[in-house]
Amino acid sequence: MQKVKTPEEIQAMREGGKILAEIFAGLRKQVKPGVSEKELDAWVEAEIKRRGAIATYKTAEVNFPAVICISTNEQLVHGIPTDYVLQEGDVVGFDLVIEYKKMKTDSAFTMVVGNKATGAQKHLLQATERALYAGIDAIKGPVRVGDISAAVEKVLKDAKVGIVRELVGHGVGHTMHEAPEVPNYGKKGSGPLLAPGDTIAIEPMASLGGERVVVEDDGWTISMRDGSLGAQFEHTVLVTEDGVEILTQV
Ligand code: MG
Repeated sequence: MQKVKTPEEIQAMREGGKILAEIFAGLRKQVKPGVSEKELDAWVEAEIKRRGAIATYKTAEVNFPAVICISTNEQLVHGIPTDYVLQEGDVVGFDLVIEYKKMKTDSAFTMVVGNKATGAQKHLLQATERALYAGIDAIKGPVRVGDISAAVEKVLKDAKVGIVRELVGHGVGHTMHEAPEVPNYGKKGSGPLLAPGDTIAIEPMASLGGERVVVEDDGWTISMRDGSLGAQFEHTVLVTEDGVEILTQV
């Protein structure tokens, strides 16, 4: 299914994934009322350079106008960092791909700025993150993509949140987007078979309203069509002989 990755390439993804996770741990501490999206983008850019990695979004592979996607409130994903200054209670999503030793890893998280999250905000974020881990836990060695998709979908359905179906997870490694697609809904036992050594990004996206998204005029930012609040969580994982390894965590 995927182009086979050598043990050295998988090890590079392990190291790159750890760097990404460390950058995210530091980024969480930078996110507070009064800081602008552009300031956070600059902070992430400096961290990537300092750690000897490359910001994939800024390369010719993507040509995104910034290092990291920052999507605030009704924006779901692919938001371009602006001079907007984050406020207490804003819901902000971060999505980042880095390259290390020629291999790419991809991860995302969503958080509430400050410490006054509403019940609805917490519900959406917790359900979306739970869906991510349910998808990861469905990998018990070789599985079909539909096994992962069905596990993600069940958590989101049970939580009664909107399931974003127009955007999907994907293989990742040599390039940012590889086969197979990993939808956030599907049937157990269906879809391509994942083999040990395959590396995929699982990325549930959900909303407090409808399921449809819209691309904004800037050509990048994707928002919920009905203006409802959206969230995304993502890890790059490695399928192993008898389970799974999360590459983008410390
Ligand atoms: Mg991704």
